[in-house]
Amino acid sequence: MHLFFDLDNTLWDFDTNSGSVLSNLYAEYDLAKKLNTDFESFYKVYHKINDELWHLYYFKKIEKAELRYKRFYDAFLFFGYDDIIMSKAMAEDYVKHSPYTKALKPGCIETLEQLGTQHELHIITNGFFEVQNIKIDNCGLRNYFSQIIISEEYGLNKPHVEIFRLAETLAGTNAKESVMIGDNLVSDIEGAIGAGWRAIYYNCYGTNFKHETAESIGHLNELIPLFVK
Ligand SMILES: [Mg+2]
Repeated sequence: MHLFFDLDNTLWDFDTNSGSVLSNLYAEYDLAKKLNTDFESFYKVYHKINDELWHLYYFKKIEKAELRYKRFYDAFLFFGYDDIIMSKAMAEDYVKHSPYTKALKPGCIETLEQLGTQHELHIITNGFFEVQNIKIDNCGLRNYFSQIIISEEYGLNKPHVEIFRLAETLAGTNAKESVMIGDNLVSDIEGAIGAGWRAIYYNCYGTNFKHETAESIGHLNELIPLFVK
């Protein structure tokens, strides 16, 4: 089989990593004072705005440069603070530091080691080329994977079917032999199902999940009994 993994929040612990960089920047930029709120409240708002902007980016409604600073600008505005120059500076610092953080999801390496003995492993990630490559190298993930498909390189994003077809071609496989594992119900799960692939939802927060065709796991090591004979 060909097992295709999402990267952010499936292998690379995006929440932990991004939270630690943001909380450092929060202090560095003296945001507690400027926004008159604590980091947790800011982070919740930022998180929501970031998700919404990524959604627009997937559907080509905004550009990369706009996404990068607007998530900060809009979050600052929410707290009544209007500073586009600082938003752009913080956005740059964030993008510079965050790929060098190293937390992986629990069980990540052990699971890849085991799956890799019997299957070909690949990554399909929606993200920026230089950023995703740094993360993959910095965390020692590269050698586990045959194909690493980064959306920006091809101008194609999950959930669009074209990126799954491209993945089949690059990996030398077909829909029947392909499985997508990811934490996003739209880009990973709907995308893979739309391409005729088997889809496994990584439900790491244990939210209520019921789906006609997709399976789900709560921990990466649940993949081992599913795929290692
Ligand atoms: Mg993800």
